[in-house]
Amino acid sequence: MKTADLISSAERHSAHNYHPLPVVVASAEGAWMTDVEGRRYLDLLAGYSALNFGHGNQRLIDAAKTQLDRVTLTSRAFHHERFAEFATQLAELCGMEMVLPMNTGAEAVETAVKTARKWGYQVKGVPDGQAKIIVADGNFHGRTTTIISFSTDPEARADYAPYTPGFEVVPYGDLAALEAAIDENTVAVLLEPIQGEAGVLVPESGYLQGVRELTQRERVLFIADEIQSGLGRTGATFACEHEGVVPDMYLLGKALGGGVVPVSAVVSSREVLGLFKPGEHGSTFGGNPLACAVALEVVAMLRSGEWQQRAKELGVVLHEELGQLVGGGAVDAVRGRGLWAGVDINPAHGTGREISERLMRRGVLVKDTHGSTIRIAPPLCISEEDLRWGLEQLKDELAG
Ligand code: PLP
Repeated sequence: MKTADLISSAERHSAHNYHPLPVVVASAEGAWMTDVEGRRYLDLLAGYSALNFGHGNQRLIDAAKTQLDRVTLTSRAFHHERFAEFATQLAELCGMEMVLPMNTGAEAVETAVKTARKWGYQVKGVPDGQAKIIVADGNFHGRTTTIISFSTDPEARADYAPYTPGFEVVPYGDLAALEAAIDENTVAVLLEPIQGEAGVLVPESGYLQGVRELTQRERVLFIADEIQSGLGRTGATFACEHEGVVPDMYLLGKALGGGVVPVSAVVSSREVLGLFKPGEHGSTFGGNPLACAVALEVVAMLRSGEWQQRAKELGVVLHEELGQLVGGGAVDAVRGRGLWAGVDINPAHGTGREISERLMRRGVLVKDTHGSTIRIAPPLCISEEDLRWGLEQLKDELAG
């Protein structure tokens, strides 16, 4: 079957909860994907940062293959060989004490919500049922019923009521609004240090530091959702590092599974994660041997610092090149950090979707968000030459 048949068959037999670009990928290596007709595309999305280490990274594939031959799943009913090392190494990478592994990003966020409430009742002394978590306008933390309850995106929320109570939304980047929202029942502030889905919004310098100071002063947990921003993408292990900030809890996902398996985790202190007792939370697949084997390799790769360095260096190229487009009429604004950018296309040149489709025809894959914005997040293994070539395609497309 070729492209058109495969797409129409997929559309007939699967829910249309996504609107993929009309490309059918058959294989991929590094920063390149090949479709069913043999055409090659430069991947400038990297699975929304799940593929930070590229497609088919040999170290990660080897780790997975070795583990596939040993044991893949035990459930947490038993201990397994890889678990202790995984928990220890991940906690150490994060400079934290404990890890609670899950699978998807949304599960890590759900776990964080439960953890923060538990801490609020058992440690802070919030009256039962009164715990409040503050989140930011424009957030994206996943798709579960509770998470979309505090989304401000009508598309994500509509028709899914009734919503979970216990959340208050404040404008992103506004410390005064955050301060005003914190009360004695506030248990946590949950934020993306850079808002990815919102269009790669980087808060003003000092914001994360301000959040840290406020939450410390008011005895509120600062939960950093680094599921998209973390693990090398911004030129540091965590986006919070750019402001020298250490939150109370990191939420990790996407790249933690190396683009091979879904792996997510909540990483925090003993005071917080030590509150869980057997039976109070869990997941059949969370922390399984295959996931741990791959994630351990991811952690080992990040420990060297070379991926962060690469993101930093290539990020300079990315932002220099994109910066030249601003003011020329086609691009209204460029934001981002490291190898990550949101590009606001002037609507006169087409919607984000149209630009993405036109770039696809030139052999470059990106994804639009919010109408006229496109996101660029190449695998960190991309060569400088390929990156420059991909950006050249964008320039030519916008010039034409
Ligand atoms: N949090 C952030 C910041 C994300 O960007 C995402 C996904 O894009 C999630 C959470 C949800 O992750 P998942 O799709 O694995 O549930």
